[in-house]
Amino acid sequence: MIAPMGTIQDLAETLGANNCLTAAEDVAPYAVDWRGTYRGVPRAVLRPGSVAEVQAAVRACAAEGLAIVPAGGRTGLCGGAIVAENGPPAVVMSLERLNRIRAVDARDFSLVAEAGCVIQSVQDAAASVDRLFPLSWGAQGSAMVGGALSTNAGGIRTLRWGNARDLVLGLEVVLPDGRVLNDLRRVRKDNSGYALRHLFLGGEGTLGVITAAALRLVPALKRVETAFVAVPSPEAALSLFSRMMESGAEVIAFELMIRRCLEIVELMGNGLRSPLPIDSPWYVMVEIAAAHPAVPLRDMLEDTLAAAMEAGEVTDAALATNEAQRATFWRIREDWPDCHRRHGPAVGADTSVPVSAVPEFCARVAAAFAQGWPEGDFIALGHAGDGNIHVSLNAPPGMSREAWRERARDAEAAVNAIAVDLGGSFSAEHGSAMRWRRTRTRWRWT
Ligand SMILES: Cc1cc2nc3c(=O)[nH]c(=O)nc-3n(C[C@H](O)[C@H](O)[C@H](O)COP(=O)(O)OP(=O)(O)OC[C@H]3O[C@@H](n4cnc5c(N)ncnc54)[C@H](O)[C@@H]3O)c2cc1C
Repeated sequence: MIAPMGTIQDLAETLGANNCLTAAEDVAPYAVDWRGTYRGVPRAVLRPGSVAEVQAAVRACAAEGLAIVPAGGRTGLCGGAIVAENGPPAVVMSLERLNRIRAVDARDFSLVAEAGCVIQSVQDAAASVDRLFPLSWGAQGSAMVGGALSTNAGGIRTLRWGNARDLVLGLEVVLPDGRVLNDLRRVRKDNSGYALRHLFLGGEGTLGVITAAALRLVPALKRVETAFVAVPSPEAALSLFSRMMESGAEVIAFELMIRRCLEIVELMGNGLRSPLPIDSPWYVMVEIAAAHPAVPLRDMLEDTLAAAMEAGEVTDAALATNEAQRATFWRIREDWPDCHRRHGPAVGADTSVPVSAVPEFCARVAAAFAQGWPEGDFIALGHAGDGNIHVSLNAPPGMSREAWRERARDAEAAVNAIAVDLGGSFSAEHGSAMRWRRTRTRWRWT
């Protein structure tokens, strides 16, 4: 069915021509995902500026059977914000103009943000009242509240404060018939019925358009210590993880990376350098923190690393001595996706396994890759503290993206099967949109 142009014209009148984009050059940025993997041209890009406009647009699209794909910062890695290439006629609804922080309450440890607020701006609003919004990852300068909640995003601090879902107290959602579900309460305890918000958290826009959320804050961190550590194996990394958890400090990040990641970051990272010599098979970035400045975090970190070194679990370590150094450590981790993308074609996965199964998972994936695709390069990096390891298979030099995608077509399925066999998941934090099926329809009425 072709979307009647009358509908688009009506939407342009409702939202204003500037907020109902149809020109090819205006629509183009919304027609491809961050990695350039998924493409699909929407009939229009709608940019409502209020909840009432979201309602009006949803009703108009519903009346014409026009599918709606909500979009936030478009940093999603599963193609969820891109219309299906051969799917039904669809529009993208970008929430970028709904970007107000409606309320911040330090005593309540909560904040109400609209769906189009960039995650970084939520963190800044929390910091302005001496609080922390703990959701954090490399794309936080672009990803938005609606997208983060709809993918149930994780990131580097999941091991301490959970995924996005764990940080939501209430939601405001426009439903497919245009009604608003107003569950924007900040109450902590509420057993008065089903917690409906959980249908939308991780729902990837399939059940409604999130327009605002009441979010949980935690005390601001007053001390942070960060170390970059060389370890001989994932087993050793796991032993170090246990030690850190038992050290008395709050472990807020524990990232594992294989040596090849550092080589690629040095190659592609515009001068970015590893804090340690690249001669160890694996590395870990660990961060501990405290909400009170008197907590002797440095001692805790040094003592724990010294004990781990004695036990052979750690072979070398660099401790950040100031904020600039800490930021440099983190740039290695956070610039990784971009360095990896620019380095060459790869197929990847977003798997999780129980934390104790991380070493076996890495070993089994490495073996499967070596057997099935010996010419490829095995990469493993991720949030080892919560069991979410992103493995990928890099193409040999010179191979085109299309050729490698064809050659390594079954690699992701092989990784997913290993994760599931170990009691894990094929989608730890990115969502499942295009992982479930390549062609996807959404919000269709007939
Ligand atoms: C460099 C980089 C690093 C990343 N690191 C991590 C990481 O460590 N952890 C992690 O979890 N993710 C990570 N991601 C993935 C991505 O940032 C997250 O999935 C993020 O939550 C997407 O937010 P977004 O606003 O960009 O959403 P989009 O990509 O715009 O949309 C994502 C999904 O949410 C839906 N959606 C968007 N807004 C709404 C709304 N208002 N209502 C209903 N549905 C909506 C879309 O339809 C789509 O299905 C990374 C991405 C990049 C590019």
